Amino acid sequence: MLCPKCDAKMEEVTCEDVVIDRCSACKGIWFDSGEAETLSKKWIAEFIDTGDTEVGRKLDALDTISCPRCGETMRRFFDIDGIQLQFEKCDGHGQFFDAGEFTLWAENHYL
Ligand SMILES: [Zn+2]
Ligand SMILES: [Zn+2]
Repeated sequence: MLCPKCDAKMEEVTCEDVVIDRCSACKGIWFDSGEAETLSKKWIAEFIDTGDTEVGRKLDALDTISCPRCGETMRRFFDIDGIQLQFEKCDGHGQFFDAGEFTLWAENHYL
């Protein structure tokens, strides 16, 4: 899978029997549907969301992001702090968080 933001190679990271895809360059993370909810815990966010928040924030400026599974343009979602946290979602396949964003999102969605 290639990163929907920067086209670099995504690498698989396994956590609690769930395999997520993290970009080897920008460290954005792709979660298949339901995976983000399953992994919404503080220690997991610290373990997998290792990228530079500043890099992630800059990538929010990109306008059209395609789903890495189906190629359709993903919808943009805003969470808690509005502009601070903006992520892309494909209803059929999953969601993409830039570096630092999953940590923010997880804080608001602890199970
Ligand atoms: Zn990337
Ligand atoms: Zn899709």
